[in-house]
Amino acid sequence: MRLTLPINHEKGPLVKVVQLTALSDNYTQVIVCPQTNQALFVDAPSADVIMSYVHKTGVEPIAVFNTHHHYDHTAGNQELCQKYPMTVYALRQDGVKIGGDISFVGEGDVISVGVLKLRALAVPGHTAGHLALYGHGALFCGDALFCAGCGCLFEGDYQQLFDSLQKLRGFSDETAVYFGHEYAEENLAFALTLEPDNTEAQKKLKEVRGKNRQDLSRLAATIGDEKKYNPFFRWDAPPMLTGLRHKGVNGLDSPLNVFTAIRELRDDF
Ligand SMILES: [Zn+2]
Repeated sequence: MRLTLPINHEKGPLVKVVQLTALSDNYTQVIVCPQTNQALFVDAPSADVIMSYVHKTGVEPIAVFNTHHHYDHTAGNQELCQKYPMTVYALRQDGVKIGGDISFVGEGDVISVGVLKLRALAVPGHTAGHLALYGHGALFCGDALFCAGCGCLFEGDYQQLFDSLQKLRGFSDETAVYFGHEYAEENLAFALTLEPDNTEAQKKLKEVRGKNRQDLSRLAATIGDEKKYNPFFRWDAPPMLTGLRHKGVNGLDSPLNVFTAIRELRDDF
């Protein structure tokens, strides 16, 4: 499936995105409208991190978008809402688990940040309900996709997770991607156990190795990049199939089986 990014995509990203680091390996992305200076925060692991960004930059915080209900993505909601008049967006089915006053959104719903318009996308698997957000040439994946990896299967099934990854892979190559956690180094080390000769994975691992959290947060990735080294985007890549066979994996007769085998190997890594 190929999704079309409806807004200004042909002109390149209009949206200004800043990545804030929080907790040990979480990210919050800040999407700022260039005209109104209003800001939406994708996930809120820490209210302090977001409040200090608001204080430092003077953006007007108007919303938090929770990709899913896990506490390390929602912990800051309450404190932020006490401090600022903010809207919290999340899936209806996550509302009870997250708590507080939630504006429910689902696939296809549009969220405005000043003149920017972003759209929610259902990508379940990591959790039974999970949302991504996209628009203006950027895709915010939460824990559905990581640099060279994808979120563990906590509540969904392999088919769901696979369908979601297929959706994400369907975005155009130049789409900028942002993730919920920083796991690139470990993910790339795993990728190279399956495809030791993948020069793009080798190159990316070199790029991330030894970098501190701040530097890592500034590394950019696109869907096109991820297709080259993310094992969860490579269920149909011949070198991946060869690598899996070398590991003694059998039954690679459907894309879903290949994908499942990769996820299971990653869980044991
Ligand atoms: Zn999670």
